[in-house]
Amino acid sequence: MSDWPIPKPIDPINDEFWQSCQDGILRFQRCTSCKKFRHLPRYMCASCGSTDYEWAPCSKTGSLYSWTVTHQNFHPSFEVPFIAAIVEFPEGVRMVSQLLDANGVDLQLGLSVDVEFKAVGEDFQMPVFRLSAE
Ligand SMILES: [Zn+2]
Repeated sequence: MSDWPIPKPIDPINDEFWQSCQDGILRFQRCTSCKKFRHLPRYMCASCGSTDYEWAPCSKTGSLYSWTVTHQNFHPSFEVPFIAAIVEFPEGVRMVSQLLDANGVDLQLGLSVDVEFKAVGEDFQMPVFRLSAE
């Protein structure tokens, strides 16, 4: 369990994303018209303009798209250094979170990364990344 801050979305469309994480399933919005996935949650598809969407499960494994090693925390509960990573999923969606247990690892673009859910506080789960086992 961690005392990381818990997201407090101000737009209800983000609640659906976080609720899915509480179920231990990574879901992204998918346009029901053109079938394109998107993240962050939005009310309109940037590809076709449709306002119709569904929440669809996403792959549990993606590839390391970019990262940075953060040496200055912006919240006292984050232990530094930590790796803030962008992971790209096969569905074409990219998501940012922490890449756990990779300090000192010789990271390379395209490395396989798995999503897992880290307990935060009493009853919240945060999606985080971990390098896939070889
Ligand atoms: Zn669309």
